[in-house]
Amino acid sequence: MEFPPFRPPSEAHSYLIRVVRGCNWNKCLFCSMYKAIDFEQRPKEDILKDIDEIPRYFPKSKSAFLGDSNPLIHKDIVEIVRYLKLRRPEVERITAYARIKTIANMPEEKLRDLKSAGLTRLHMGLESGDDEILRLVQKGITAEDAIKAGKKAGKFFETTYYVITGLGGVERSEKHAKNTARVINEAKPTFVRIRNLTITNPEMEGVVKLLNAEEQLEELRNLLEGIKVETYFTCDHISNYLFTNRGAIFTGVHGKLPEEKEDMLKIIEDTLETVKALKKSGVEVFTSNDMFRFGFISL
Ligand code: SF4
Repeated sequence: MEFPPFRPPSEAHSYLIRVVRGCNWNKCLFCSMYKAIDFEQRPKEDILKDIDEIPRYFPKSKSAFLGDSNPLIHKDIVEIVRYLKLRRPEVERITAYARIKTIANMPEEKLRDLKSAGLTRLHMGLESGDDEILRLVQKGITAEDAIKAGKKAGKFFETTYYVITGLGGVERSEKHAKNTARVINEAKPTFVRIRNLTITNPEMEGVVKLLNAEEQLEELRNLLEGIKVETYFTCDHISNYLFTNRGAIFTGVHGKLPEEKEDMLKIIEDTLETVKALKKSGVEVFTSNDMFRFGFISL
């Protein structure tokens, strides 16, 4: 039995099924997730056996998550999803990580087959909607790929786009927010999930100038302001948090757009004021990068 080494926080209670090992791209500078793993498709027979044995390892669940990074490129993926649905009828939601490039290039027919087999949601890393930043961090996709993939996948599945605040550094912060909002407005993902750039991979060190707490909040505000479509926007990850030495002072914003947008913007503005006031009185505010460096958080 094998399990994917990573899963989104929203899949904490899902059955975890390892379809592929590692990432077939594995070049993004900011990512340290699968660097030590050689990509391979697991033999179908082993995956089906894992599906049979899941009840021995997990409490009964209504959802299942397929890993590692891009399981939809497995040559037998439709059969695997169909088998999962058949053998685990309690599962109502089947989700997977997917590369935007893979979805942009995948024939709609295949996506339709995956939907009828039981797949319901895709987790995709947009990171930025700005082509210069995407090139800089070696993401291997363009903004146009992301728009195409979002529109296509949205016909069949719920979609999540992950965005990394700070990915363009201080230098490109405004462009990053503006162009990322533009892609989201076109691609219309069901969920937008924010992570703040935290240097866990040495290859990313020095590539951009990291945002301080105020700059992080300003970029988050600019991004949120730019999103005009209906989606669920959430900072559901500790990398978004801001801290003083007494504890967390910001734990992100979460809510439905457009209904809750004004409330969320107000929280960000209020926190900005707090950060400025703390700074003035000599209190330091720490970002995820500081906390990671100090060893107080792990990612
Ligand atoms: S961010 Fe995604 S596509 Fe890029 S290397 Fe990491 S797992 Fe692979």
